[in-house]
Amino acid sequence: TKETEAVTTTEETTTEETTTAEPEKGFAADATIGVSLPWLGTQNWKEADEMFKTQLEAAGFKAIVQAADNKVPQQQQQIESMIQNGVKVIVVGPVDGTQLGSVLEEAAAAGIAVIGYDRLLENTTGVDGVVQFGSVKTGELQGQALLDGLAKVKGEGPYNIELFGGGPADPNAPNFFKGAMSVLQPKIDDGTLVVVSGQTDFTQCATPDWDNSKAQARMDSLLSGFYSDKEIHGVLSPNDGIARAIITASEQAGQEIPVVSGLDAENESVQWVWSGRQYSTVAKPTDALVSKTIEIIKSLQAGNGMPAPDTNVNNGKKDVGVFELPPVVVTKENAKEIFANDPGRLDLLK
Ligand code: BGC
Repeated sequence: TKETEAVTTTEETTTEETTTAEPEKGFAADATIGVSLPWLGTQNWKEADEMFKTQLEAAGFKAIVQAADNKVPQQQQQIESMIQNGVKVIVVGPVDGTQLGSVLEEAAAAGIAVIGYDRLLENTTGVDGVVQFGSVKTGELQGQALLDGLAKVKGEGPYNIELFGGGPADPNAPNFFKGAMSVLQPKIDDGTLVVVSGQTDFTQCATPDWDNSKAQARMDSLLSGFYSDKEIHGVLSPNDGIARAIITASEQAGQEIPVVSGLDAENESVQWVWSGRQYSTVAKPTDALVSKTIEIIKSLQAGNGMPAPDTNVNNGKKDVGVFELPPVVVTKENAKEIFANDPGRLDLLK
């Protein structure tokens, strides 16, 4: 794997090998915790940025919370400086799941516990656990919502659809797509679903950097290239930002798409689901993920080590314990129920 100049090699830390701290020993109740987020481009990451700052401090810790603007070298530098600042735990949502190997191994060698947040940390031994919503499960819900929505809105098939994936560097994106295709592929095979463009591979459907404008440009060209004499009935979208870009492209082309899936329950999309402009989203509440992460940090602080994970995933270098929370599909029908305890979102349903 490539290393950038920003990454200090592990050589510097080898002299300390004998004094490598063990997370099981615990650490001061007012220790500093580092949080490195990939970007603040979608609502979930903005919420995480806020919630980590507030909740880590409320729990008595000092917090360094940073976001990397989707740039790998920037994230490597931020983690490097967290190590230099003596943090006891680093929580990481990686820009690219595979590109933090050496800096995280350096952190681990310095006795720092490393927790993957929302995304898997791949190809590194420097990870102690990952907290996330089931990523394949999320994709299954998206695929199922598309299928259910088509039956509900359009009646009998066949239905013309197109498929979109997320940013290929994000380990979640291929998993979301894989989960969705496990539901959709059999229906493509039996002719219920017709992908008119023929673009069904993740690489053809991915949206570099989760960039909404790139998705909107792809939707524009799909509509002009394949739908001048056909209706489009549904689109698989990997998140809400991309869903709104797809819907906007179709509205501008005068070709409204009856069923578009999403993810994140972003405020704007919750309103669009309520008004019928977007068919579904998937809720993966940030506060639950942040609380779970802080619960783990408290266990480490108290010297109790990592709690037992729900499952294990091989990241290419080791089996990583995964703490997995359940994502929930949201449509107009169940929105009030799902957001019953989320006054901010409940308020949008009117
Ligand atoms: C997260 C999504 C988010 C996407 C783009 C994914 O890893 O799970 O919630 O929409 O990144 O930021």
